[in-house]
Amino acid sequence: MTNKQIFFLIFLIFSCDISNDKILIQNVNVIDPIDGLKKNINVEILDNKIIYVGNLKNSYSYLKEIDGTGKYLIPGLWDTHVHFYFDQELAKDMPDLFLQFGITSVRDTGGDFEFLDSIKKLSKENPKSYPRIKISGPLIDGKFNVYNGERLPNLSVKTINIKETEIIVNELIDKGVDFLKAYEMLSPEQFEVLMKIAKENRLNVTGHIPLSMDIETASNLGLNSLEHIKNLELWASTNKSKLLEERREMLENKNNLSGLNLRGMIHNAQKNYAINNLDKNQTEKIYKVLAKNNTWQIPTISIYKVPIYKIFKSKYWIRNLKYLPKETAENWEKRIKSSSDKINQNEKDFSDWVQKTTREMHEYGIKFMAGTDTPLGFLIPGFSLHVELELLVESGLSELDAIKTATINPSKYFKMQDSLGQIKKNYIADLILLNSNPLDDIKNTLEISAVIKNGEIYINPLKIE
Ligand SMILES: [Zn+2]
Repeated sequence: MTNKQIFFLIFLIFSCDISNDKILIQNVNVIDPIDGLKKNINVEILDNKIIYVGNLKNSYSYLKEIDGTGKYLIPGLWDTHVHFYFDQELAKDMPDLFLQFGITSVRDTGGDFEFLDSIKKLSKENPKSYPRIKISGPLIDGKFNVYNGERLPNLSVKTINIKETEIIVNELIDKGVDFLKAYEMLSPEQFEVLMKIAKENRLNVTGHIPLSMDIETASNLGLNSLEHIKNLELWASTNKSKLLEERREMLENKNNLSGLNLRGMIHNAQKNYAINNLDKNQTEKIYKVLAKNNTWQIPTISIYKVPIYKIFKSKYWIRNLKYLPKETAENWEKRIKSSSDKINQNEKDFSDWVQKTTREMHEYGIKFMAGTDTPLGFLIPGFSLHVELELLVESGLSELDAIKTATINPSKYFKMQDSLGQIKKNYIADLILLNSNPLDDIKNTLEISAVIKNGEIYINPLKIE
């Protein structure tokens, strides 16, 4: 061989794309949350990134080729309301459960910082086998904190005055939380100082509306998101000012109740009264404030409807407990079967109100994120997010809008929208390949053929036969 021939041979080898470490998903129907449905598309992945979305086939050989004919590709999903710390045993299995169900990112909304940070570190070190994890650390609560560890796990930190709130918030920010969560027993002054420090540090604050406050004030102070639509109704009622005055009096806690019982007493006294005495104009005024301030909503309909409607007693739910570790599955099944069959009318009214409010807020252009509260309320990690999507559609969102709440919306919330949550070139390859079209029926998000996390492919992770 002449030098010229050798040179030509080398040139040939390099020019015909010898990098066969690309993955190809061929001829798939792509559902992008922004651009919608595009049919018969090729998607190429290299390492952890999507490098091509289009009609061409760019290589001779690929590390792996997946036939996407007749299938649908959506971005990996977020569950934006989970609690690893609620069941520390189950927490070990939660990352796997999430990934199996295509939940490639989660937002943990409350628990011990060190515990959560250790899981987050594992996720950072092993991005292909863990969901992405964002943490708030503990709920920041007031003098009579609700989750004080008595009957429920200690998810919160008690701060007895403004100074203490300030110290705790600064500490959490120094430790590196991704956002903060304000809780129900804070005083207005404590809430205000929390918001001020968060703003200085450009950190999102989510939470429940403190019972000592009203939703308009909290939203105007910069609350970025509201969990469970918690305590909105108290300021939407015909007697809103009187209710607030009564709450402030009860919060003085003259009978020295525990935080949990004090909150329970206030909720019992006011919540159902409020939804039965709604002021339509005032409700609309609140929606306008939330839309204007961009106060996101995480309605977590599943934590209301699944326990309240006793959906967890259905054969469908019990059958899906099989995904849990054996001990947890047996424990949950026992507890579910021994729980009451009776649906409480007040609770049912409240759950219905949450869904109605979700629909109305959506009509006002308020943004949503899909979240569950798993593993509370026998909500199965991973599986429950799909139930939440179904309940969002049942409440009045379109299938595509529901998919947005678990993909591009959380990306926007964490300012990651340029790298995560769409099926586009240079986006992180967190994807779910589905056997059926979720735009026809949102339940089809459970028809999982493969999950891709950070470029790693898991074929048939739910072991569907
Ligand atoms: Zn929660």
